[in-house]
Amino acid sequence: MSRTEEKQIWKTGDRVLVIQAHPDDAEYFIGGTIARMVTEGCTVGYVTITDGSKGTFDINADPKTLSETRKKEQRAAADVLGVSELFFLDYPDGDLYPSLELREKLIKIIRTTKPNIVMTLDAWLPYEAHPDHRVAGLMASEATVFAGMPNFYKEQVLSGLKPHVPEKILLFATYSPNAFIDITKFLEKKIEAIMKHESQLSLSFPNFVKEGNFEEVRKELRKIVRRESKKGKKYVESLKMFRVGAGHFY
Ligand SMILES: [Zn+2]
Repeated sequence: MSRTEEKQIWKTGDRVLVIQAHPDDAEYFIGGTIARMVTEGCTVGYVTITDGSKGTFDINADPKTLSETRKKEQRAAADVLGVSELFFLDYPDGDLYPSLELREKLIKIIRTTKPNIVMTLDAWLPYEAHPDHRVAGLMASEATVFAGMPNFYKEQVLSGLKPHVPEKILLFATYSPNAFIDITKFLEKKIEAIMKHESQLSLSFPNFVKEGNFEEVRKELRKIVRRESKKGKKYVESLKMFRVGAGHFY
């Protein structure tokens, strides 16, 4: 995708809502894209669906404390990227299953914040074992196509919220991308944002973290982004983009 085509995905003044399962999903998959969107004049907000309370190998860890730590880390990472608004829905980590209640909450946030663009995990990623990723993507996708239809959660509309149709949805952690975002200039910001999720680094890089060797962690992260880029010398993040219609993507 050329730069010109790529630019058409967003424009200055766009409002972007990222709906993620866990604190850190957005930084890992689309941190560079978010940094670039903010630099190019978009406003970005996050919805984090689960509380992240099981993200540890330590059986003695207190789930409440871990969840608080992860919120702090998420706020710090969002600050690095320039994300302006954060919503935490606090569903228990690892136990996310589809529910009309979650869909209703997401529709309310979409009707309140009025994003042009919704970004979420690709619910149709083959072999995704983690229910939180599948379900977050599915509920966010359903909310995106129904938020503009007034008879879905009519009470919200009757109490003053206007139906709202986002123009586009961009799915990340996708198997069949159709948009590749050049993040070369924003790579270091992405790495810096991931590094804010300190409690999670020891899950992926236990030895380097034990030694306090964070420079090596940064190097490993750069390697992962490079490997996932598969696009010559540029660093890219991959997305699956759809337009949003009434009840469907197209
Ligand atoms: Zn996750």
